[in-house]
Amino acid sequence: MTTQHFVSPEGIDGDEVRFDPDEARHLFKVLRCRPSDEVEVIDGEGGWYRVRLDVVERRGASGTVLERRRDVGEPRAACTIAVGTLKSADRFETFVEKAVELGVTQILPITTARTQITRLRLDRLRKIMIAALKQSRRSRLPLLTTVRTFEHVVAGMPDNALCIMAHEAGPGRASFADLVRSRPAGQPIVILIGPEGGFTDSEVQAAVDNGWQLASLGPRRLRAETAAIAAVAGVMLHAGRSRPEVLPPFQG
Ligand code: SAH
Repeated sequence: MTTQHFVSPEGIDGDEVRFDPDEARHLFKVLRCRPSDEVEVIDGEGGWYRVRLDVVERRGASGTVLERRRDVGEPRAACTIAVGTLKSADRFETFVEKAVELGVTQILPITTARTQITRLRLDRLRKIMIAALKQSRRSRLPLLTTVRTFEHVVAGMPDNALCIMAHEAGPGRASFADLVRSRPAGQPIVILIGPEGGFTDSEVQAAVDNGWQLASLGPRRLRAETAAIAAVAGVMLHAGRSRPEVLPPFQG
């Protein structure tokens, strides 16, 4: 299977592609590519390119664009997910990797009453996201925001979005799949997932007061990262062939 290579938009000038040192080293030493070989390149902003290699050396590589496409591998459903920061960095990183593979559009790490982590290693998470983008053959890097507060996110969503708080207990919860399937075509979706200790009653009430709908992901109690991955998968599986949805990047 053809591997994909990531080149930031700055490395693509007209039909000329310049690979960064890491990608060049991978092309030269690991894949043993040579001039005139063809590779697939993505730029993380929806650009996909078939590229003929012109120069492949240990210290650098460059090529020429032969074919361009847009949004290769990208979902039609716009899915934003806000997740409480987790005590385990590994578990949060696993969630981020799987959410990117599944097609998430935006990831909003949030602090809540029961979170203990307020800072994330965003540089490390970006590398994980780029690797997942290449592996899953997507072309548009999801937005990962800095850590936001629960209050900011709960009150800061656009009116046209379907806002779903995944909650593992209590009355008045809808089926997650029903909410996704029955939404108006093209309506973007925002999901809220709590940290290991879950949401407090007042957080649940605040979400409901701000128009969020409570939803069950089934009768079993899931770990936060499992619930987050299941929710993104649920959107992708149930969102149908609606026309592409757009949710402006979260500015809250
Ligand atoms: N409060 C529980 C579990 C929290 S799990 C405990 O004490 O262990 C963390 C988050 O995952 C929850 O806040 C919720 O958003 C989500 N979650 C876990 N299981 C779920 C389920 N069956 N339905 C909906 N959401 C769930």
